[in-house]
Amino acid sequence: MFLKPTYLIDGDITDINLELLLADGVKGLIFDLDSTLLAPRSGILTAEVEQWLTVARSGFKLAIVSNNKEKLYLDKVRYLLDIPAIGHAAKPRRRAFLQALQLLQLEAHEVAVVGDRPLTDVLGGLRAGMKTVLVWPLKSMNEPDWITFFRKLERCFIKT
Ligand SMILES: [Mg+2]
Repeated sequence: MFLKPTYLIDGDITDINLELLLADGVKGLIFDLDSTLLAPRSGILTAEVEQWLTVARSGFKLAIVSNNKEKLYLDKVRYLLDIPAIGHAAKPRRRAFLQALQLLQLEAHEVAVVGDRPLTDVLGGLRAGMKTVLVWPLKSMNEPDWITFFRKLERCFIKT
């Protein structure tokens, strides 16, 4: 089976051309959470994504559909991002996507699913009759830059 996202982005979420989506009749965005909005593992919201979200907020209705099951984490996300989030989604099942549609009060064809996983995000969006945007996962943010910097600095003291 071939999966063809409506938009294939050669970059992460911040490389999405929002003007193009608006022109295509998209009024709502349903985001994947882990690795799409937040950095993998660390759950860090980068300044770049935060800024991009501010722009996205002004033109689109937003929701999050995640397979993540951790209630506390999802509560934090709702609070931090101020976007309704449906967890435990069991993507690529359609249920959570259709639930998000209810929240957004939009038709399926007016919504684009944005995610980094073809077999969950893209397939699920397609099944729900939505447009789909496949992005690269965000870079891992396990180590802040300054730690990496100090690690490099430490190397100077190692004799080989
Ligand atoms: Mg993901």
